[in-house]
Amino acid sequence: MSKKNSLSLTNSLRNYLEFYSDIGIDSLDNRVKTLLPATLPTIKNSEDLGIQINCSDNSDQSLPLTKPQVLLKKDPSLEEISLDLVDCKRCRLSQGRSNIVFGSGNPNPSLVFVGEGPGREEDQQGLPFVGRAGQLLTKMIQSIQLQRNEVYICNVVKCRPPENRTPSEDEIATCSPFLFRQLSVLSPKLICCLGLTAVQSLLKLKVSLGRLRNKIHTFQNIPVVATYHPAYLLRNPSAKKEAWEDLKKIRSMLNQ
Ligand code: SF4
Repeated sequence: MSKKNSLSLTNSLRNYLEFYSDIGIDSLDNRVKTLLPATLPTIKNSEDLGIQINCSDNSDQSLPLTKPQVLLKKDPSLEEISLDLVDCKRCRLSQGRSNIVFGSGNPNPSLVFVGEGPGREEDQQGLPFVGRAGQLLTKMIQSIQLQRNEVYICNVVKCRPPENRTPSEDEIATCSPFLFRQLSVLSPKLICCLGLTAVQSLLKLKVSLGRLRNKIHTFQNIPVVATYHPAYLLRNPSAKKEAWEDLKKIRSMLNQ
């Protein structure tokens, strides 16, 4: 293997292991090794990378997952939906935004992440999850053997709420139909909602995240799971272990 390829693989492996380390995993066993990409070299000792990891695998391997049979009436493309949002002023969030953050990623993904709304960095760049929370989301994605460009990432509202407040019900009601159209076009095997606003908006349920996690819901016959928003995980690192359980469930469902 060339030195350049070796460095690239080492960096990829470091990203995986840093996420495991972040969530409190401090040694490696065979179950974690099965989550790593086949192209990576066999890991004999994670301490070679200066990181120690450990894993207990309680994931439910028998979760049902079927490709959705019935979907919303399809838009021809994501582009058509984004054209409907050009210079959108349908709600008050248009007043303080710099850019509409439509979404980004693989237009034919197996997995879609749905967050709440853009933050400051996202508003500046016009891209979802590019700040600190976005960096953590990238690590979370990589921890389940995916690259960021293999999934699609979007939000319930496409414009930044002032001071990063939670979007109001009327703002969500105005903007979420565009999310629903996106999900219909994307037609993934699985949707992962990041945080309470996302999962409540999709499921139209006023229930706590604690009651919505650890369950498989459906949106237009697409399986939906919920986990913590990466911004919450940055503020509450102790919740990363629960997020890891959610990620293992997602990996298991995608494997089916
Ligand atoms: S949040 Fe959505 S509905 Fe409101 S102005 Fe932005 S794009 Fe339009």
